[in-house]
Amino acid sequence: MPTARSYAASSATSPLAFSPIPRREPTERDVEIEILFCGVCHSDLHQARGEWSALPTVYPCVPGHEIVGKVTRVGSAVTKHQPGDVVGVGCLVDSDHSCPICESNLEQFCPNATFTYNSPDLHGTAPVTYGGYSSSIVVDEHFTLKVPGNLELAGVAPLLCAGITTYSPIRRWGDIRGKKVGVVGLGGLGHMGVKFAHAFGAHTVVLTTSPGKAEDALRLGADEVIVTRDANAMQQAAGSFDFILDTVSADHDINAYLNLLAIDGTLTMVGAPDKPLPVSAFGLLFGRKRLAGSLIGGIAETQEMLDFCGQQGITSDVEVIAIQQINEAYERLLKSDVKYRFSIDMASLTEG
Ligand code: NAP
Ligand code: ZN
Repeated sequence: MPTARSYAASSATSPLAFSPIPRREPTERDVEIEILFCGVCHSDLHQARGEWSALPTVYPCVPGHEIVGKVTRVGSAVTKHQPGDVVGVGCLVDSDHSCPICESNLEQFCPNATFTYNSPDLHGTAPVTYGGYSSSIVVDEHFTLKVPGNLELAGVAPLLCAGITTYSPIRRWGDIRGKKVGVVGLGGLGHMGVKFAHAFGAHTVVLTTSPGKAEDALRLGADEVIVTRDANAMQQAAGSFDFILDTVSADHDINAYLNLLAIDGTLTMVGAPDKPLPVSAFGLLFGRKRLAGSLIGGIAETQEMLDFCGQQGITSDVEVIAIQQINEAYERLLKSDVKYRFSIDMASLTEG
C-alpha cells in the first residue's frame, strides 16, 4: 500500500508530530492528489485535542480538511479530472451517493457521510480517515472540487471549509442586500463571513472581542465594528440586526447576541464549542427570533462558492506556515491571534 508523510496527534495531549500513514491505491472512481496547501481550521484543534464529546477522537489523528493539491493519478472511471489538474477537497470524502439526502445535494447530512478525518475508513486502509496535514490523499472524484485558475492557492485552501461554512448560511438566508448582518468572531470563519456578506451587499458588522482587529475588519469589507465588551455599544445596537452568524469556537453568552436581533431576526451558529450554551426563552420570545445552525455545505454548493470566489477574486487572508509550526499555530488560535487563517505549505513536510 502507498505510504504518505503526515503530521499526526497520537493523544489528546501530545503535540502533532511526523508520522507515516497508509493511503489506498486509487480505485476506479478515485483521484490521487499531491497536497500543496492545507488550511488550519479550529475544528482541527478541537478534534486533535479530543475536545468534542459528540465526536470522540480516534488516535492517531491526522487533521486537515482545507485541501488544495495537484492530481497525480486517476482511476479508470474518473471523468472530472486528469493528472496535473489543481483540485480542492473539503470536509467530506465520501457518502452513500444514493440516499434522498445525497440526491438533494446535502451530502454533509448523509447518514453514511465520511468526513475527511476521524470517520470510519470504509476502504479499510486505516481505522479512520486521515486528513490533509499530509503529502497526499486519495478521494472519490465526486468529493473533489474544481479550483478557479485565477486564485492564489494558499488562500484558496481555507475556502474548502471556512469559505463554504459561511457562504452557505448567508445564501440560505435569502436576499441579504441592504440587510444588517453581524459576524461574531473575526477568525478563519468570521473573516470569510465578512467577505461574503459584503460581496452580497449586506450592511456588515463585525462583533469582536479584539479591539485590535477593528482596522482589519473594515479592510475586509465590514461597514462597522462593535467591540462586544463595550456594554454601551451593545445596548445601542440592541434589536437592530436581521441576521447574525456566530463563529465563536469557545464558551460564550449567546443571549448577548440574540439581544441584538430585530423582530424575526435569525442567529445561525456555525461555531462548535463543546459545552451546551444556555439560551434565554424570553430572549427568543420577545421579537419572535430564531436560533439556527449550519454545517459546511454540499458538494454542488461548495463548487458554486468556489466559482463565485473565482469571479469576485475572493480568497482567504492567510499566514503561510511550515508544518513544523503547527503546534505553535494552535496556541495562537486559542489566543484569537490569527490573521486570518494559517495555511500550511506542504512542501515543508519532509521526512522527520
Ligand atoms: P478561529 O479562527 O479560532 O476563530 C474564532 C474566533 O472567535 C476568534 O478569532 C475570536 O474572534 C472569537 N472568539 C474566540 N474565543 C471567544 C470567546 N470566548 N468569546 C467570544 N469570541 C471568541 O476559529 P475558526 O476556524 O473560525 O472556527 C470557529 C468555530 O467554528 C470552531 O468551533 C470550529 O470548530 C467551528 N467550525 C464549524 C463548522 C461548521 O460546519 N459549522 C465548520 C468549520 C469550523 P475575535 O477576536 O474577533 O473575538
Ligand atoms: Zn473546518
